[in-house]
Amino acid sequence: MTDPAAAGVVVGVDLGGTKIAAATVTASGGLGPLRSVPTPGQDGPDAVLDAVAGLVRAVVDAAGAPLRGVGVGTAGVVDVSRGVIVSATDTLPGWPGTDVAAEVRRRLVDVVAGPGPLAVFVENDVDAHAAGEAWLGAAAGADSALLVAVGTGVGGAVVLDGRPVRGAHHLAGEMGHVPVPGAEGLPCTCGRPGHLEAIGAGPAIHRRYLALGGDPAVRDTREVVALARAGEELAGSVVRAAATAVGRATAGVVTVLDPEVVVVGGGVANAGEVWWSAFESALRAEVVDVLADLSVRPAALGAAAAVLGAARGVHQLCSAPGGKPAPTTPGRTVE
Ligand SMILES: [Zn+2]
Repeated sequence: MTDPAAAGVVVGVDLGGTKIAAATVTASGGLGPLRSVPTPGQDGPDAVLDAVAGLVRAVVDAAGAPLRGVGVGTAGVVDVSRGVIVSATDTLPGWPGTDVAAEVRRRLVDVVAGPGPLAVFVENDVDAHAAGEAWLGAAAGADSALLVAVGTGVGGAVVLDGRPVRGAHHLAGEMGHVPVPGAEGLPCTCGRPGHLEAIGAGPAIHRRYLALGGDPAVRDTREVVALARAGEELAGSVVRAAATAVGRATAGVVTVLDPEVVVVGGGVANAGEVWWSAFESALRAEVVDVLADLSVRPAALGAAAAVLGAARGVHQLCSAPGGKPAPTTPGRTVE
């Protein structure tokens, strides 16, 4: 029997636009203490990668064991087979084209357990979130799940048999760029008007509140949501419109995929009843009768979800036939 500590630890990393979080994760899902640092996104990719490596190093030091693998869930569209960023928004300038797998491996070469390259797995952060919820959270035990994440952006992920579906162009599940009624003419982060993210994301709620004559002293989406909960009419209608747009778009995706469960997470989705009731009634109003008992649940794992999901990707890599994969092919095998 091998001592697990001697074999090394696996660290999951959630790399978002404002914060990087990391922890050790065992093969059975045991989560170590979460540590986090701010994301130095405006300082460029090298600074971000240095911050990731520094945080992983701190986690490894605290665990007192060498490093066996790193799983990274990152903002942006990711080519999982190579660990390279395909595209990303302005929150991480210069991030597209970054070879996250190679750069993380290079920065951590001195703390690797045993011979051979460090196993590094990189995927989109919403995919990682979904993988975590499918493993140990709100979608545990389901054969298929749709995760909808509503925060700074609107993301989505489709999980089949515990693994996120990637798509032919690495874009599967990116619900934020689905056209949706109510968003006509509103600019999306991708540069096109009319997409879900332009009306449903957190920043869109604040923008729309101000554009419709809301109190200019209201500083952010959190304050708009607080006003909505307190019964302010304009704030309430803006939050409900945003939630309705997410609900309608979700109905479209659910109708195509027929998932066993829909899991909804992200900061905006946690805004409470004012958001949730508008979201769920819009979703249920749009789907056909066969889906009347569709299971719709809030995400269960909070900030740990993407850390767990990204780490699970590494555990799956390390347990794949043939052991540790070649550094250039950290992707999953396709059945
Ligand atoms: Zn868009």
